[in-house]
Amino acid sequence: MKKMMSFIILFALCTCLYKPVIHVSSSQLLNQRVIVLDPGHGGLDNGASIAGVDEDELNLKISFALKEELESRGATVYMTRTDDQDMTRRNYNYSKQDDMYLRALKIDEYQPDLFLSIHLNSSNSSAWGSQVFYYKKSEDGKRLADSIHNQMKILTGTRKNISSSSFYILRATQSLGVLIECGFLSNANERGQLKSRSYHKKLATVISDGIQDYFQALSAPL
Ligand SMILES: [Zn+2]
Repeated sequence: MKKMMSFIILFALCTCLYKPVIHVSSSQLLNQRVIVLDPGHGGLDNGASIAGVDEDELNLKISFALKEELESRGATVYMTRTDDQDMTRRNYNYSKQDDMYLRALKIDEYQPDLFLSIHLNSSNSSAWGSQVFYYKKSEDGKRLADSIHNQMKILTGTRKNISSSSFYILRATQSLGVLIECGFLSNANERGQLKSRSYHKKLATVISDGIQDYFQALSAPL
């Protein structure tokens, strides 16, 4: 009888201590997350245009690669534009002000967990490296920028740091978001990389890894 009792107690103890281990596959880590991608420029606004390479076109290609990667990890992804048009969708009298206003409105309409504005930089030919900008008053923005930057620098080797800014798209939106300059079109070496589809996929992977890190840090116990 004593033996029986100790067996029951032992069994009960084991049942209490047993915690099922939930394995979340990497493909599910962005489940239920809504992300808006905002490929910068478009239409009459080419953005930076160097050696026959237009920024707006590459921003769109990188965003498509990113959409595919984020969706493969379970996220729901929307884009502010999916073709070579700005937000006004009129091919005359381009107005940066109208374009940006409509862009910010569209981002907030989706009520995303976060948005990313995708851009390419240009300066003198020796400048290079990716950089992530966050709205100066947003602590969450800073955390998100940091997570993405840390993953991007593994690929791009950038020596730049994250930076606060008051870019219109960051200050006019209510949603959490960052602006990513993926690299410099004005640098011949980076321009070569930024034109390549395989590099778009690599960028998509590291940016998605950064987003995952951001959400994981949010849900980690203090
Ligand atoms: Zn741009």
